[in-house]
Amino acid sequence: MADVGNTNNPLRVAIIGSGPAGFYVVSNLLRYTDLQVEMDMFERLPTPFGLVRYGVAPDHPKDKSVTRTYDRIAHNPNYRFYGNVQYGKDINLQDLQQHYHQIVFATGAQTDRSLGIPGETLRGNHSAAEFVAWYNGHPDFADLQFDLTREDVVVVGMGNVALDVARILCRTSAELAQTDIADYALEALRNHKIRRIYVLGRRGPAQAAFTPLEIRELGELTDTDVRVLPDEARLDAVSEEFLAANPSRNADKNIACIERYSHTAPAGRKRLLTLRFFVSPAELRGQAGRLTAVRLVKNQPVRADDGSVRARATDIEEILPAGLLFRSVGYRGVALPDVPFNEDSGLIENQQGRVTDTAGKALAGLYVAGWIKRGPSGVIGTNKTCARETVDCMLEDVAGNKLLQPKSADPQTVAQLVRERCNQMISYHDWELIDAAEVSNGKSANRPRVKFTKLDDMLTVLDQARNTDTRHSP
Ligand code: NAP
Repeated sequence: MADVGNTNNPLRVAIIGSGPAGFYVVSNLLRYTDLQVEMDMFERLPTPFGLVRYGVAPDHPKDKSVTRTYDRIAHNPNYRFYGNVQYGKDINLQDLQQHYHQIVFATGAQTDRSLGIPGETLRGNHSAAEFVAWYNGHPDFADLQFDLTREDVVVVGMGNVALDVARILCRTSAELAQTDIADYALEALRNHKIRRIYVLGRRGPAQAAFTPLEIRELGELTDTDVRVLPDEARLDAVSEEFLAANPSRNADKNIACIERYSHTAPAGRKRLLTLRFFVSPAELRGQAGRLTAVRLVKNQPVRADDGSVRARATDIEEILPAGLLFRSVGYRGVALPDVPFNEDSGLIENQQGRVTDTAGKALAGLYVAGWIKRGPSGVIGTNKTCARETVDCMLEDVAGNKLLQPKSADPQTVAQLVRERCNQMISYHDWELIDAAEVSNGKSANRPRVKFTKLDDMLTVLDQARNTDTRHSP
């Protein structure tokens, strides 16, 4: 190992983003017990955990329990959290280069993709990403409005996010009231008028992107019938041939579940959730600027040159009434100042986690992990292996002395710089005080927590908590 990473000269790492990818970078670095490493995590929001707090569905509390692991990681004495500090605004690349040997961008995929069809400017057309962020109490989305007085809702896409959105719309208010869904969303959804929800897949059941547990869960909804048209559930010859050559247990389970739904007659429950396959929205139609319907085109499966099964449009069309539409066709990364970004892929240019310039040459000291590295795919745990690959590269570069040359290696200099730039910085201990207040507010309502959704409310509760708190913020 080079002369960085020992007690006299610890490796100094900055991590931008505090979602799963960021925390798994920290935990992977901590696996190297003979490495002395100081890790500072910068987060734009006042709260840590990224999509675990603002993306995972509120009715999936088990998926959120992973924060206990992140909490343990955060208590390592060599880790510091700088919340409410934005890269590119409060702190920039030059600042970080002066204080760290290595910088890891783990900023996720913060925006969504559009459908690219006529009518997308109509009111009532939303991205699933903003709806998810809204019901999860993300401060940037807390003021959004969704017209929940409409009876017909379309969700475009057949991934887990599409199913999350559909499921949340189908949950009873009593069920939602036991979760950590944002208070305003609980209230808005309590009185919604939605009766029919259509989830649209452009390909067939064999190509659905959701996972078996999630599709099965729809069948357990109390107030909702799940319907699949028998013609669309039947395994087509193209997919059958593909699966014979490329067996997939997930696909088999999904197909079996969808087929079961296609044989089950609706029982007259309050809501009807229809999963449609081989259909694509071709146009959004409206009246007086408001969405009223979607023109659908029927697709057929074809084998593409690369062997995959694709959807090809036919000339069969239908009109589906829709007062609200959520497009759930994948997230997309956002460019960061001074970091090479590929506009086509929506990713930071990288090789195995090393940031590269457009010619593919590694830029010393810069790394990526998570969705901004590989795209919006996989489950939370996928980020662990993704971060491990990045950390392996980082360690190789420590050994090869391919590092940044920070002017100051004193953690206090950064703390001071951040305080000068950002007078409302939130430390991990501050977050714990906010967290405790949220959990305490949830107790009386028998909820896991009641989330604060505005920075000002977090700062107010923090002021109150600090006055009674005997420990000092780090
Ligand atoms: P996803 O899994 O990539 O699904 C995107 C869906 O959109 C696919 O069905 C895709 O169809 C469809 N699509 C893309 N472009 C389209 C277009 N132009 N027209 C119509 N359909 C289009 O993305 P996601 O649902 O946003 O999920 C992101 C990641 O988070 C996934 O890895 C997911 O598993 C994970 N996640 C997991 C959970 C969980 O574990 N419970 C919950 C939420 C999210 P094609 O396949 O035909 O491209």
